[in-house]
Amino acid sequence: MKEPIISVRGLRYSYPGSDDRLVLNDISLEIFPGEVIALLGANGSGKSTLARHLNGLLIPNEGQVVVAGLCTGAETNVWEIRKKVGMVFQNPDNQLVAALVEEELAFGMENLGVAPDIMKVRIKEMAKRMDLERFLEFPPNRLSGGQKQRVAIAAVLVIEPDILILDEPTSMLDPAGRREVMEQVANLKKMGKTVILVTHDMDEAATADRVVILDQGKVVLTGTPKDCFSKVEIISNLGLTIPPAAELARRLIKKGHKIDSTMLKV
Ligand code: ADP
Repeated sequence: MKEPIISVRGLRYSYPGSDDRLVLNDISLEIFPGEVIALLGANGSGKSTLARHLNGLLIPNEGQVVVAGLCTGAETNVWEIRKKVGMVFQNPDNQLVAALVEEELAFGMENLGVAPDIMKVRIKEMAKRMDLERFLEFPPNRLSGGQKQRVAIAAVLVIEPDILILDEPTSMLDPAGRREVMEQVANLKKMGKTVILVTHDMDEAATADRVVILDQGKVVLTGTPKDCFSKVEIISNLGLTIPPAAELARRLIKKGHKIDSTMLKV
């Protein structure tokens, strides 16, 4: 059995000034290298707060988060953790800060003190890999939502993190942009990266290796998408909707039809 790359033990967290209301309440979780995890839950269930603990943006009030062997609470680990864990947020407009795509790709590396010649090589390679070469001289605001999110993912990947946290990366995008980003998630998996995809979209969650479902700051269900989505009652009580393909498969199976559920990815 592989060692976990992320290990969360007994994590409790309340935001400062919120009367000690626990937003995360005794979360324990292990994530293994190369896994794609969908972190699922209704609005306000604590997904983003948990995601922000996984790269040390937030520090537990109680419990421990260890990422790639580094404990997030220790001041000395902050920069090391930034190198290991990349984070992409919901709105690409808020995370793209540079005037040109090329500068955007350089930005994170400059902050981490990567030598200019290495930076140049990495930008070139990343632009090629992410099909961004023709956009390098463009200002990000000339790109579509999906393209901007691709730049945001590339800007994080260029730092060569082992882990990527994507916090609702498709929620501001049109269907074409969503597809574009989900293709990148599949690519990240092929590259062997560990991916945590925060989402409330069940179709997106169905593409993960494992689903972790939060409700009111607790992990209430975890397992393969197929296993989790078969627990129809629990899922609907959490205010989530089973993906249409999974629902169809479930009904057909219930009626005695033999179907190849792998064709439906569930
Ligand atoms: P989700 O990502 O599942 O929608 P969040 O982690 O964003 O959930 O929020 C969980 C809870 O924490 C919500 O009740 C939200 O109002 C609260 N919360 C989120 N951010 C803050 C903050 N900066 N200060 C105080 N409360 C917050």
